[in-house]
Amino acid sequence: MQAQSLKVILKNEFSAGAAGGLPPTDHWLELWLYEEKHFVMATKLLAEMQSQALEEDWLCKQCGEFNGTSFDWCWNCSE
Ligand SMILES: [Zn+2]
Repeated sequence: MQAQSLKVILKNEFSAGAAGGLPPTDHWLELWLYEEKHFVMATKLLAEMQSQALEEDWLCKQCGEFNGTSFDWCWNCSE
């Protein structure tokens, strides 16, 4: 798969626990690419992954966490 050739950096991977009163944009997960030429391919792959995940999970608007369909509230922030 093409994704294996993408070299990336994840930022804020573990910052959700420190979110507190911070604006969500201060601790959102960020995926940075080493090569700008991979932007289109990375965007397509992310869209595919998100559409697959959304079929089963739901995304919390408060903290951005994916939750299983069995959860009525976000397991991470209780929204
Ligand atoms: Zn949440």
